[in-house]
Amino acid sequence: MLRFTRLEQPKTLEEADALAKRNKLAPLLGSGCWLRLAKRKWPLVIDLSLCGLDYIRVEEGQLCIGSMVTQRQIEENEVCRSLADGAFVKAIHAILGVQFRNMATIGGSIAGRFGFSDIWPVFLALHGQVVLADNTVLSAESYAAYRERHIIKEIRFDLTAPKVASLALRKSNADFPYITGAIRLDNHKYEIYIGGRPGIATKAQATSQIVAEEGLDGLPMAMDKVKEELTFQSNSHASESYRKAMAAVLVKRLVEEVNV
Ligand SMILES: Cc1cc2nc3c(=O)[nH]c(=O)nc-3n(C[C@H](O)[C@H](O)[C@H](O)COP(=O)(O)OP(=O)(O)OC[C@H]3O[C@@H](n4cnc5c(N)ncnc54)[C@H](O)[C@@H]3O)c2cc1C
Repeated sequence: MLRFTRLEQPKTLEEADALAKRNKLAPLLGSGCWLRLAKRKWPLVIDLSLCGLDYIRVEEGQLCIGSMVTQRQIEENEVCRSLADGAFVKAIHAILGVQFRNMATIGGSIAGRFGFSDIWPVFLALHGQVVLADNTVLSAESYAAYRERHIIKEIRFDLTAPKVASLALRKSNADFPYITGAIRLDNHKYEIYIGGRPGIATKAQATSQIVAEEGLDGLPMAMDKVKEELTFQSNSHASESYRKAMAAVLVKRLVEEVNV
């Protein structure tokens, strides 16, 4: 249960940003699906639901998704559905059930930078951008490492995305995935991202390079390389060695998927 002493509900993003900067430890509330799992009682929570951030629009060839848009709204939006032949929406669809996706926000999903995220690998592969409340624009890669206090205003994607595919492996539907991945194929250049190691998705640089240079013939080498170049660990969902083996499988499946 989400417990707090005081709830602020700013009516504009500017007001929310000022509040967030004055109260650096107060959590920003998306849907609270994740926040409510915390055992503590917060002195103050800043609810973003009245700031007008629940829009999906196209501006200058970019798809702009406000941070309070729910995962389900994205799944149901035609432009989002067509992005990269449905790769973005496919990643979201794997998360729990419709009732949950009707609540969970894209802002909370990106800001959480969850290692198990189904969304992060494809967000990276699509070269997504994060726009902060003060209109600073960060690439997905820079945002993954961004540590300043901030509010996400929206995320953005170029509508002319190249071939992108995403996959995740989980023991059963509605469980957390134990390994996730996405691939981008842009003019013979491959980018492969692997998450759930259990760390946040990251680029498998050398693996991507092998596939770019050797094509499908280089797959056995790439499958070995991914186990060596990224770090994997054990947790309650999978062991380190199982994750390594499955990351190799993921690389094979992702490369094959963008080459059909
Ligand atoms: C039981 C459970 C199972 C899950 N399983 C999966 C899964 O299988 N795959 C998967 O990908 N995800 C999974 N998730 C994560 C889920 O998809 C959402 O990403 C998560 O709930 C966060 O969204 P939220 O709206 O609930 O955010 P909140 O709980 O409201 O916030 C999460 C964090 O983001 C911050 N935040 C929220 N909005 C903003 C903003 N606009 N700007 C800056 N910071 C912000 C909050 O302060 C907080 O730190 C799971 C979550 C739960 C609770």
